[in-house]
Amino acid sequence: MVRRRDVIVGLSALPAVQLAGGALAAATAQEDAEDEAAGESAPQEQVMEGDTVETSQGNLVIHPVAHASLLLAWGGHVLYVDPVGGAEPYADLPAPTGILITHEHGDHFDLPTLEAVAGQAPLIVNEAVYNMLPEALKGRATALANGDTGSVSGIQVRAVPAYNTTPERQQYHPQGRDNGYILTFADKLVYVAGDTEDTEEMRALSGIEVAFIPMNLPYTMDVEQAADAVNAFQPAIVYPYHYRGSDLDAFEELVQPLIEVRRGAWYPEGEG
Ligand SMILES: [Zn+2]
Repeated sequence: MVRRRDVIVGLSALPAVQLAGGALAAATAQEDAEDEAAGESAPQEQVMEGDTVETSQGNLVIHPVAHASLLLAWGGHVLYVDPVGGAEPYADLPAPTGILITHEHGDHFDLPTLEAVAGQAPLIVNEAVYNMLPEALKGRATALANGDTGSVSGIQVRAVPAYNTTPERQQYHPQGRDNGYILTFADKLVYVAGDTEDTEEMRALSGIEVAFIPMNLPYTMDVEQAADAVNAFQPAIVYPYHYRGSDLDAFEELVQPLIEVRRGAWYPEGEG
């Protein structure tokens, strides 16, 4: 945990213009040297490995913020996904070079937070959120419909459907409105599912390296449904997120052993 935070904070100390290229690698190398000097490289390496994913162009750093909010840092790119909770959780984190919003619900989209943290970063949103943005943010936002592709901060993005399939839950996320996103980091695909059940589109995905999958009722799905979906599309790594109150031990038990389940610090207040 400490090590992951060090990497992110290290990035934030650099001026944005210097972030391009090997800034992350440089920060990591410097920390490796420090760890060796301190004689503690082995255990710290494992923590670091737990929150990074190798790509053919350097490590992707995954930083859960809370519940459904996360950062993905790669090279000079810093993507915020569904930032909410005000400016405070982001105060020590690098500024975004791009922002993605999955849908309009308050645990995914919060205008005061956006206005506090966005800087000049471009946004990718769904159409409903686009229509809720003030002009200043709208001017650098792109609305993607389900199935559309675009890019933000030079990262290729595909919007995938996120919706409820159980009749009594369809009021929460009706089909066609909300997005999940598949992001391309060199040779690795990262899928942030948004609020969804195990749609046929999710179950048909392939080649996903990292998947962020929600599980909580009544808004998304239960752990059995989530595990069944994960077993269907076989990501290499799955992060349960948006799971407040759910039984992650049960989820992990149901996921096939070849799929790595990673647990992040999604509930810093301890309500997870
Ligand atoms: Zn929602």
